[in-house]
Amino acid sequence: MWTEADDAALREEAMHWLAAWTNDGLDAISYEDLGDFRFRGEKMPLKDRQLGIRKPAQLTAALSITTTFRAPNKERPYDDRLGADGLMRYKWDGDNPEKYTNRGLRAAMQERLPLIWFWGVAPGLYKPIFPVYLVAEERESQQFVVATDGLQNLESTGQDIDEVTKRYVVGETHRRLHQPVFRGLVMRAYGTRCAICTLRHSPLLDAAHIVPDAHQDGVAAVRNGLALCKIHHAAYDSGIIGISPDYTIGVREDVLEEVDGPMLEFGLKGLHGNTLSVLPSRRNERPDKNLLDRQYQRFKTGVVPRRTRFDFVKLPEE
Ligand SMILES: [Zn+2]
Repeated sequence: MWTEADDAALREEAMHWLAAWTNDGLDAISYEDLGDFRFRGEKMPLKDRQLGIRKPAQLTAALSITTTFRAPNKERPYDDRLGADGLMRYKWDGDNPEKYTNRGLRAAMQERLPLIWFWGVAPGLYKPIFPVYLVAEERESQQFVVATDGLQNLESTGQDIDEVTKRYVVGETHRRLHQPVFRGLVMRAYGTRCAICTLRHSPLLDAAHIVPDAHQDGVAAVRNGLALCKIHHAAYDSGIIGISPDYTIGVREDVLEEVDGPMLEFGLKGLHGNTLSVLPSRRNERPDKNLLDRQYQRFKTGVVPRRTRFDFVKLPEE
């Protein structure tokens, strides 16, 4: 058995390695690539091939947990696991509380050890979220309560959490967990390319929401997403660019009349009338036409929030 110091060193090294591998958490990692991790010269799998819980034989506590990828039209990947307090739940392995994997999770909880959560964003491809902590066990529901970094000192969970804390918890969980998973799903679906201009540099790409206020419907689904470069994301959100339900790109009229350098000429005006260049190969991952239409109507009528110096200009007519 390893000492506590060995355990701590392994977790720290694993998380550093993952950060380096994933562009500081921007990118997902494949099961195959995870196999490259070594600790003190030895191969050390960070994730079990079959099981959701990875509990290395040398440790008393679990090292990672995994949520398997499910296709977008199947069960939602995480909404079903969100508790009333805004914290995530992770199910036991089977229903025997004394199984070594479940004991490994309990040990991680009792010792407050940081874990890695691997979220499947495609078969064999994972978005690692780390560190996460287990802050409570709900035996009757056979699950643990998971907190992301920053929330690990939450003492109580459950219904009686106050509203202010709950809003904070939900916000943190969204930022640390839902956003990265959403990004992972969208980037994988679009092959890490801007849907509008095909740019393929991950640090310059965002997972954009088609309808920004659809969060409350639980639409973190890839169908409310578009992989867009930073410029096209901001242009879409601010109403400079619109995308019709048949994937045609429109550029706002006053912008079409402007004359400027190559970013405006090629990067924006030149797109007018084009269709999206990159779409997910899986039909059920393509942008939802109703959501596109909702946003497109806002673009056409100019009710998209706008922050440019063209705010006073007459809006384009239908
Ligand atoms: Zn672009």
